[in-house]
Amino acid sequence: MNFINSYLQLKEIFYEKIRPSTVANPQLLLWNSAVAQQLMVGEELAHDPTALAAIFSGNELLPGSEPVATAYAGHQFGHFVPQLGDGRAHLLGEVVDLAGKRWDIQLKGSGPTSFSRNGDGRCAVGPAVREFIMSEAMHALGVPTTRCLAVVTTGETVYRDTPLPGAVVTRVASSHLRVGTFEYFAARGNHEALKALCHYVIERHYPELEGGEPVLYLALLDQVIERQIELVVEWMRVGFIHGVMNTDNTALSGETIDYGPCAMMGAYDPQTVYSSIDAMGRYAFGNQPKILQWNMSRFAECLLPLLDDDPTKPVKLVELIIDELPRRFEQHYLEMMAGKLGLSACKTGDNQLIDELLDHLKEHSFDYTLTFDRLTKSQSCEVVAGQVSQELGVWWDRWRNRLDEQGDDPQTVQQRMRQHNPVVIPRNHHVEAAIRECEQTGKTELVEKFLQVLRSPYKDQEHTAEFQDLPADGDRYYQTFCGT
Ligand code: AMP
Ligand code: MG
Ligand code: MG
Repeated sequence: MNFINSYLQLKEIFYEKIRPSTVANPQLLLWNSAVAQQLMVGEELAHDPTALAAIFSGNELLPGSEPVATAYAGHQFGHFVPQLGDGRAHLLGEVVDLAGKRWDIQLKGSGPTSFSRNGDGRCAVGPAVREFIMSEAMHALGVPTTRCLAVVTTGETVYRDTPLPGAVVTRVASSHLRVGTFEYFAARGNHEALKALCHYVIERHYPELEGGEPVLYLALLDQVIERQIELVVEWMRVGFIHGVMNTDNTALSGETIDYGPCAMMGAYDPQTVYSSIDAMGRYAFGNQPKILQWNMSRFAECLLPLLDDDPTKPVKLVELIIDELPRRFEQHYLEMMAGKLGLSACKTGDNQLIDELLDHLKEHSFDYTLTFDRLTKSQSCEVVAGQVSQELGVWWDRWRNRLDEQGDDPQTVQQRMRQHNPVVIPRNHHVEAAIRECEQTGKTELVEKFLQVLRSPYKDQEHTAEFQDLPADGDRYYQTFCGT
């Protein structure tokens, strides 16, 4: 791996130079060969688990790597925290892949930094494995996401409510820049740093943007919003609940980041929330579009002082962009939902067709993924068509009429639907079972088998059915936790 450290070219207020702490007994638990290949991890190294464990625990540094903990702030559950930062993570550097794309390589759980506050800088095996499984599933589903290269157990115990085995997870991301990175400098009134950050983000994620200041900053706002809309629409497509959409977990790249308390929605209900600390349901499934708008408002506020010497002047313009966001979202959302129903384009009345189906699912507690999977299969299977038509009653006839009017043959419709509707998602009870196996036995057979299925989520494969079943209790008592 050839490390580059472009982030270090920014001033030292952007980060703290600090090495990962060493761990007692690093052992490679999970390794992502596909990501390794993309990052051009040398063949020899890729087959040497001992060397990999030493490197991806932070015990050994590769040449060229200059680890830093990055500074950021953030709104957590609506409350501003002026300093968060990498309290348990080290950015080792960046790697440019064969296609010329640049990736951040970051260790998480690699020891304390000056941003740790009261935390121990460590991570338990459970959350590390969860991040590996969930990000891999999301990637295969086609949702923009950070990925994991490795999980290494440390041989050390981390103390949470109970003693737990420790791990370091290696995260690969287009970058780790967040809305919270902007908020860090905006809160300090450091406009020079904000400008430098804008230019860095544009160069790295939005190189197509052009124009002089301040138009360039407005274009950046517009494009960040566009990618966030695309991202959250994708979450809605697959039933993903992020669970902690704080501004420090909103990546400027438009990738899903922070898999702490995330979960998948089973039975369709926009109010679904699993995170133990989200008692108010702020980050419930159906609230995600609203929170996206809220987060983008915080981002826009950071840019105001760059748009005019008198920051009250651009307020109206920025308000227009923010007010327009729900309409933009709705348009993307309807197109996506139309695709789930096999429609090539959305026309007037389709929003009603979509709403009526979702109301029906909610009323009868039908599973979101399974319903759309069966609607897809109903195109070519009489038996499934018979069953689903009974379950969905008059709605079924309306949908069939709409498809007839469109005129595509069933095969084309089925293909279109299949692109939008997975056969299998990382269901919460299977994720938990796989994590438990790793935690309790150190074995990874179940995780690997699960990953193999999740890596082809639009195909029925040999073991798919084993992971498609619904949880016995409908996830009624399911809870997720952050920061463990
Ligand atoms: P998160 O809830 O994962 O988005 O993290 C929020 C903040 O808490 C970030 O600044 C993290 O670096 C920090 N943090 C979370 N867990 C720990 C830990 N065990 N030790 C130190 N800092 C932590
Ligand atoms: Mg976070
Ligand atoms: Mg987290």
